[in-house]
Amino acid sequence: MSENKKAIDTLNKDDLIVISGAGGFIAGALTRYFHEQGFKRIRAIDKKPLEDWYQLIPGVESLTLDLSQRDNCQRAVEGAVEVYNLAADMGGMGFISNFRVECLRSILINTHMIEAAYQSGAERYFFSSSACAYNTELQQDPNVRALKETDAYPAFPERGYGWEKLMSEIFCQEYWAERKLKTAIARFHNCYGPHGTWDGGREKAPAALCRKVIAAKDAGKTEIEIWGDGGQTRSFMYIDDCVRGIDLIMHCEDLIATPINLGSSELVSINELVDMIEDFADVKLERKYKLDAPRGVAGRNSDNTMINNILGWEPDTPLKEGMKKTYTWIESQFQDRKAGKKTVS
Ligand code: NAD
Repeated sequence: MSENKKAIDTLNKDDLIVISGAGGFIAGALTRYFHEQGFKRIRAIDKKPLEDWYQLIPGVESLTLDLSQRDNCQRAVEGAVEVYNLAADMGGMGFISNFRVECLRSILINTHMIEAAYQSGAERYFFSSSACAYNTELQQDPNVRALKETDAYPAFPERGYGWEKLMSEIFCQEYWAERKLKTAIARFHNCYGPHGTWDGGREKAPAALCRKVIAAKDAGKTEIEIWGDGGQTRSFMYIDDCVRGIDLIMHCEDLIATPINLGSSELVSINELVDMIEDFADVKLERKYKLDAPRGVAGRNSDNTMINNILGWEPDTPLKEGMKKTYTWIESQFQDRKAGKKTVS
């Protein structure tokens, strides 16, 4: 097992940390995480105008820049000691199935960001990859064999989104091999939690299902629509585990330029997830299965052998505990929106 180091053990409090995609879900939480640990110089960047950011953290330098443009990337990383690139055009299955070109174009972000980070002399660079980089042929059965890191090759990833992630991983590996920029690559499995997208077409299954149950209950309806037959299985990682994992992976010398799973290994079917949410809401709804909707691969889970061996840790927030917090937050967002107040989605 490696020595478990974090930013707090490695950096000075006034070293500049740059985080891209910070107007969104995970990078917003990461910005808050570093801010709460006392880092004084954090530069958070997103292409969205500031009023649309999910979290705006006072004391953090927050900039609106389109990071698919090279000049903006140079501006973004100026003076950075560490760069965390989480910016990407992405969403749940509905989005990544229908907007493959948008997903592929995120390659511009990583290509310019890593070069700019290298040129500016940053010490470490983090890239958020995805379980969608794995060979889809290994994911045809809901009774999955959990995916281990070697399962990305031979390559047959998710069209569009998965290919972009795989190619950007290679950039990270070669910037280390040839140029000695210390890179870290985490393959996130589905992440969920408060302050994430919960409506509008980019939301993922846990948030979408919470919203559907809350909306049905609120409107006195007795049924909800489920994409697919509900038998598809997934694992879902709570946001607090995700940001902690990013920190640990970024600062582990044994994981330089080495893609690693960052996900929960608690497998659940979509039907079981709906059961759980119905319990929170204290309702029982009739399920209308939409079989022609995007449903993604039949099953996917994270094999956590490598992360356990190297870090002696894995994402371990029980799904029920994380989902309860998420449900409560989405319910308050739903009520805020009904009252005409500003909300995240
Ligand atoms: P998100 O959509 O909430 O955040 C991504 C942010 O990137 C958005 O705010 C978006 O405006 C920004 N962005 C897009 N294009 C940009 C550009 N050209 N310049 C600057 N900013 C730009 O998504 P998220 O769930 O927080 O995901 C963060 C990262 O993690 C992404 O790289 C995503 O592919 C990866 N990931 C997420 C999950 C998950 O379950 N959420 C799973 C696997 C991988």
